[in-house]
Amino acid sequence: MRTRFVVPVGTRAWLRIFWDGPCGRLGYHNAMSLLGDDLVLASKKWGQVGDHLVLVGDHHAAAWPAACEDCGAVVPQDGRRQVFCRTLYGTPDGSWRGIPGPGDMYIADWYGCEERGGHCIHGWTNCDGRHLIVQLPGDAHHWWDVDGRASNCTLPNDTLHRCWVRHGDPAAERVHVDKKGRTCAAGAGSIASGNYHGFLHNGELTGC
Ligand SMILES: [Zn+2]
Ligand SMILES: [Zn+2]
Ligand SMILES: [Zn+2]
Ligand SMILES: [Zn+2]
Repeated sequence: MRTRFVVPVGTRAWLRIFWDGPCGRLGYHNAMSLLGDDLVLASKKWGQVGDHLVLVGDHHAAAWPAACEDCGAVVPQDGRRQVFCRTLYGTPDGSWRGIPGPGDMYIADWYGCEERGGHCIHGWTNCDGRHLIVQLPGDAHHWWDVDGRASNCTLPNDTLHRCWVRHGDPAAERVHVDKKGRTCAAGAGSIASGNYHGFLHNGELTGC
C-alpha cells in the first residue's frame, strides 16, 4: 500500500450520542450525525493524538442522530450527548481532505519533546519533537509512531538510538524505514500491530 503524506487543515465535528451496550466492537452504542468541517486549526495541546475540541458551526440547528450506527438501536432519552471533534487532514496540494485512513501519515508535533530540550515521551533525549505517525493497514486501524520505541527494544536504557531508522522527508520524498543508522537489535525495521506485519520501504507499506 502506497503511503500518502497529509497535514492538519481543520476540524470535523459530529453531534454524538452514546449509551451502554452491549453493542459491536466498541461495547457501547454510538450514534453520530455530521455537523460539518471548520478549516480552522484549534489548539493541539489536548493530549489525544490528532483530536481536539472546538465548537463548529451552529449545532443547535443541526439534527441529533436517531439510531446507533452499529446496530440501529433507537437513541434513548438518557444517552450522553456531545459535540465530537476530530482533526481534519488534507494533502498539501489541496486535492483531498478528510479523516486519515490506512496508508496515510502525518507529523505529530504536539508531544512537546523539543520544548523539553529533546526529552521525548519515548525516553529519547535527542528528539526534534516531530514524530512521523503512519496509519497501518489491517483490521485494528493502528497507528505506528515511527519515532517511538519498539516494545522489544534491546537497548531500553539508551536514549539516543532509534528502533526504526527513517530516511526521507515525508513532505517531499518517499519515506524508507530500516535499521541503517544508530539503532538496536530489535527486528529488521518492520512493524507488527494488530493483524498487520510489514515494512515501510520506499513509500510503500509492504505485507510480509
Ligand atoms: Zn448499537
Ligand atoms: Zn519525541
Ligand atoms: Zn531500540
Ligand atoms: Zn510478517
